[in-house]
Amino acid sequence: MPVDTLRWQHIEQHIHSFLKNYGYGEIRTPAFEETGLFIRGVGKDTDVVSKEMYSWVDQGNNNLTLKPELTAPVVRSFIQHKLGRLQPINRLYYIDALFRRERPQKGRQRQFHQFGVEAFGSEHPEMDVEVISIAYHIYKSFGLKELSVKINSIGSPEVRPTYLKELKSQLESHSEKLCKTCNHRLSTNALRVFDCKNSNCQLVLDEFAPVISDFLSDDDRIHFDMVLNLLSELKIPYTLDNKLVRGLDYYTRTTFEITSSALGSQDALCGGGRYDKLVEQLGGDSTPAVGFAAGMERLLIVLDDISEPIQQNCDIYMVILGEKALSKALIIANNLRVDLNLSVITESSRRSVKAQMKEANRQGARFAIILGENEIKNGLATIKNMNEGTQEEIELNKIIEYFKENRKR
Ligand code: AMP
Repeated sequence: MPVDTLRWQHIEQHIHSFLKNYGYGEIRTPAFEETGLFIRGVGKDTDVVSKEMYSWVDQGNNNLTLKPELTAPVVRSFIQHKLGRLQPINRLYYIDALFRRERPQKGRQRQFHQFGVEAFGSEHPEMDVEVISIAYHIYKSFGLKELSVKINSIGSPEVRPTYLKELKSQLESHSEKLCKTCNHRLSTNALRVFDCKNSNCQLVLDEFAPVISDFLSDDDRIHFDMVLNLLSELKIPYTLDNKLVRGLDYYTRTTFEITSSALGSQDALCGGGRYDKLVEQLGGDSTPAVGFAAGMERLLIVLDDISEPIQQNCDIYMVILGEKALSKALIIANNLRVDLNLSVITESSRRSVKAQMKEANRQGARFAIILGENEIKNGLATIKNMNEGTQEEIELNKIIEYFKENRKR
């Protein structure tokens, strides 16, 4: 609804200017992609791909899917446009709609929106920290207080097989306590057991899952320690969460999430991490990358509680009395909009003066211009200052000049 859209526009504008200050450029990708992109990019055993995609076969026999996440399309586009060959570091951001067939509830829709960043080209910890810092500070700049940054390292792909083997063997000894889906996950991708919402499965993980940080390589550890040190230096508070693996297959090393206690059960505001192998995996040159995606609707839920509703007031209501005043009024209104960038609403229902003044009030107009047949005959208009209740007569050809002086709100 327009009243909601005003708030969206306000938030979007803030995101655009905030991210430009960090040197990020906006990328827009199509609403749908070939289904294979998500199967290869996000992973076929993830909830998103195995349960939640809106996919179809088009009349040319192509398998297509409405975007269920935004990193894989950005990577596809990054490769297609050879961005990595044009410059070594590419900082991109988006604000976009996506689709997942999940159970709808507060803060969880089937069509929703995310803003996010993807930074390509640096393997160094400072890039992880830049991305986490953007997420943290953008929420701060919106006035959010109850923020918590959870962080983990899931190591490089080289150490993953050893960890997965150990995880699988530990969980297999307690498979009778795991749900059916998780039992299946043991034979496909044991890491995905962490995504399960079933409390029994989470208890088994708490008790028996090996801790991923014990499996990191020396380089992984150095990288992660540097990320944590820099976060501390930047005074970004964090907590370590060794179960944070995130529900998408492409992550390597750093994973993080920001939550807000103001949100209730769906408390994640945003999530992200490093994905050093995805560009190569989708057919591009080997390029390290890190990013995050943040739910717009979740941000709106939190902001609704802490900020005033935004109202769209017009500057001028044009009160028109009689057909003879019509064309002159419409010309003046247009000139005020085009020349002075003022918002002007013109009467279109031919109501009485009283009803039109009431409408001017309802629209929150600062001024009403009253134009009737008498005014036209005398070459004058009555201008009423709605806030002060004063009114004066102004020559028709001086109206623009008058509002040039009074333009400021
Ligand atoms: P993900 O792409 O799953 O990492 O999610 C990133 C962020 O998007 C989450 O932290 C939420 O804020 C938001 N989000 C994810 N799924 C939904 C959904 N179905 N409805 C609304 N927001 C969502």
